[in-house]
Amino acid sequence: MARQHRRPAYETDSPDPWPDAVRIRGYAGAACYVLGWETVPDDDTEWSGYEVRTGRLVAVMVGDDHKFTCDPEDVETLAREEYCSECGQIGCTHDGLDRSELAADDASMADLTTRRNDTNE
Ligand SMILES: [Zn+2]
Repeated sequence: MARQHRRPAYETDSPDPWPDAVRIRGYAGAACYVLGWETVPDDDTEWSGYEVRTGRLVAVMVGDDHKFTCDPEDVETLAREEYCSECGQIGCTHDGLDRSELAADDASMADLTTRRNDTNE
């Protein structure tokens, strides 16, 4: 069977469970988009036209069109401020989005964490 060169096929849900960029375990540092549920042909596909879902997701990195598959459990939501819409890197701020409010939140969060750690010791 010549299925090696088959592009990953996928089905989408409506509403889309992952409408925004996400973080995927194993792709640290790069924001990704989930395209949909991976599907593969089974014995019936030739006459039914339907493929079956594998339970895995097809995703791409922001700014890239290389599709890869991942486990839905490895997908974490990502705030818009956390990644760069130009290069897709998490932590890059070169896309010009105003992150001043977030930076303030981060500082207070870090402060809280420190205080909590102090109490625990
Ligand atoms: Zn960037």
